[in-house]
Amino acid sequence: MNQFLSRRTFILILIMSILKIIFKPMQVLASSLASKEEWNLSKEEWKSRLTEESYYILREEGTERAFSSPLNNEKRKGVFHCAGCDQPLFLSDKKFDSGTGWPSFWDSIQGSVETKVDFKLIVPRTEYHCSRCGGHQGHVFNDGPLPTGKRYCNNGLALRFVSE
Ligand SMILES: [Zn+2]
Repeated sequence: MNQFLSRRTFILILIMSILKIIFKPMQVLASSLASKEEWNLSKEEWKSRLTEESYYILREEGTERAFSSPLNNEKRKGVFHCAGCDQPLFLSDKKFDSGTGWPSFWDSIQGSVETKVDFKLIVPRTEYHCSRCGGHQGHVFNDGPLPTGKRYCNNGLALRFVSE
């Protein structure tokens, strides 16, 4: 049994290594670069501005636990800002209940987010981040409601809600 398991583990490691080599040229930065020079802050500067959890999400492309953010159930009218630089990203009237446990939107404020493809789970996913500070927000999928058909799956810790 042990031998079987270790052989399976070995094969798995081998496959992962091969995939890693294949995808290496497409590997992405740990976080996206800021488009505005004044938001190209050092690691230390970001750490002093953000909580530990928000730093992990915004600057290291982490993901919070599903259903952990109070913003998941936020239903008031208002604007969702980037927790890194305070740029407005989403309007409350574009928010919908996706049932995933993460605040979800079917559209972003024009020009506020930029996308890139990541391979963190091997399968390509479209990552998006704040267009101003480059802070990671979440992933966008094509299974959202009309009219866009998009589902922006956002980390609540990467947002700051400002009610109207
Ligand atoms: Zn930002």
